[in-house]
Amino acid sequence: MADPRIARISNAIRAIPDFPKKGIMFRDITTLLLDPAAFQDSIDLFVARYKDQGIQVVAGIEARGFIFGPPLALALGAKFVPLRKPRKLPGPTVGVDYSLEYGTDRIEMHVGAVQAGERVVIIDDLIATGGTMGAGIALIDQAGGKVVETACLIELTDLKGREKLGNTPLFVLVEYE
Ligand code: AMP
Repeated sequence: MADPRIARISNAIRAIPDFPKKGIMFRDITTLLLDPAAFQDSIDLFVARYKDQGIQVVAGIEARGFIFGPPLALALGAKFVPLRKPRKLPGPTVGVDYSLEYGTDRIEMHVGAVQAGERVVIIDDLIATGGTMGAGIALIDQAGGKVVETACLIELTDLKGREKLGNTPLFVLVEYE
């Protein structure tokens, strides 16, 4: 039987049509954050998934990976590493460029934040085309980290973002078409 926590989480996520532009159905997790029981459920499900997997690093993608990543990292006794938009991190960085529908973007992390061989989970709120998460995997790979799995609350299945992740598994709590 389906875990009842999944329905609670799904019900707490709001859909806003035509944001940030026409034709996009924005999945807004800020309403989940207003429901401490549902927010806690989402963290508990990630903790249960990763607690016995020797995870040493939780890497969160800016910006909403910074909301879900730290409580997971603390529960696992792992480091939290922010993967940030360009020119946000103050120290020396490594980065990966990736393409968007129009143009390109880039994510960066501090040099030395992830050590070679460390076991990493990358977390974000949502996977759409998979471009962002794919870049996250490439960035951790570049540092010699081992991406054990990627994790998102939400997968937009029609966009087939999973296919951009190569052999790296993706774990999600809620799927929308
Ligand atoms: P992508 O690189 O296409 O997989 O896009 C994923 C990133 O964009 C994530 O960091 C999401 O937070 C954000 N994103 C993309 N589409 C949506 C959407 N429909 N609702 C909310 N966030 C989205």
